[in-house]
Amino acid sequence: MTRRGPDSCPGVLRLHQAADGPLARIRVPGGLLNPAQLQALAESARDLADGNIELTSRGNIQLRQVRDAAALTDRLAAVGLLPSHTHERVRNIIASPLSGRVGGLADLRALGPALDAGLLAAPRLAELPGRVLFTLDDGRGDVSGLGADIGVHAIGAEEFALLLAGRDSGVRLRAADTIEVMLAAAHGFLDLRGEDAGRWRLHDIEQGADRVVDLLGLSPVADRLELPVRRSLPIGWLEQEDGLVGLGAGVRLGCLPARTAEFLAAVERPIVVTPWRGLVVADLEAWAAEQVVRVLAPMGLIFDADSPWLLVSACAGQPGCAKSHTDVRADVSEAVDTGRVLPAAYPLEHGANDRDADPEKAAPRQVSEPPRIAATDISVAGRQHWSGCDRRCGRPRDQVTDIVATDEGYRIG
Ligand code: SF4
Repeated sequence: MTRRGPDSCPGVLRLHQAADGPLARIRVPGGLLNPAQLQALAESARDLADGNIELTSRGNIQLRQVRDAAALTDRLAAVGLLPSHTHERVRNIIASPLSGRVGGLADLRALGPALDAGLLAAPRLAELPGRVLFTLDDGRGDVSGLGADIGVHAIGAEEFALLLAGRDSGVRLRAADTIEVMLAAAHGFLDLRGEDAGRWRLHDIEQGADRVVDLLGLSPVADRLELPVRRSLPIGWLEQEDGLVGLGAGVRLGCLPARTAEFLAAVERPIVVTPWRGLVVADLEAWAAEQVVRVLAPMGLIFDADSPWLLVSACAGQPGCAKSHTDVRADVSEAVDTGRVLPAAYPLEHGANDRDADPEKAAPRQVSEPPRIAATDISVAGRQHWSGCDRRCGRPRDQVTDIVATDEGYRIG
């Protein structure tokens, strides 16, 4: 499959002109931020952008309404968030956020930085499209279902499955060989892509995964693993294997206010941005973890796994996107605040828009032409993604109810 032309993914050096102003996307390989980096992001959001840090579904960061791109570049470079001007958009690496601390078959904490260093060290890999995704799954299956172009999935502490184009290739690797093979696969993708800039992903190349395996001189040796999409949102108190504590925090619609980020940075512990638009504050003593919850829960961070905020996601909508029919974030926020986002176990389940209706007696839904519904009348149980138009940007890959704005109201499903 060939797409339209060169991919236009934004970065720090190439801003996207969104409807509400320039947008910068900052790559955070493995979602790993140190306190100084989070502090710099918070200050940049406050001084140079709209005051918020947006978390993306690839564990990256976005700033909106950037007023001074040169100043932003300098600030990010000073804390190591822009180590290369040539490779900034290719550093899309998602790793199991709890690896090495809680569960998993292998400790992958060193692999993310090693893969990033390998990408940066290879001049040709700057040619990778900004959409190419690398994943490192420690065997718990939390990120292998995200459809990476190139990934590894631990099947033991020292053995990994090589994933290509979102599937298990059947190739098995020793831990020591993973980075070298992933980088070689990235070169292989570029070889196959040739001059066709419209091929943004390995998935876009016919038989791309098999051809990369051949190029690398590897052979499938095992039955393919199934890699289901699995949402593994770490929320609340997480006992680490080293006796310390991690705190998983949900972030409302993935939008972290600069002031909250500054409080997080002041904790002076590693922060991991998750691909579910949340955070993990790692390596806390128990007393410090209690303090963090006491201070940051009232500021809006979510430590309660039953929070309705964890059931909802939304695209940018108005005013950030010119295609949007409405301000979806305001609408979904009102739905949460007024109790219209219901637990998944609520009897009406997906698609309900009348809490008092009896589903047993309800008339069959008109599937071909679903009704349009005012935002204030929507009441849906379980996971739901609100979109400002049919493109459904940011939609999670797993099961959700779609709530899509049209020019006549919302359509459910
Ligand atoms: S789903 Fe539509 S309205 Fe929402 S961000 Fe994407 S293009 Fe814009």
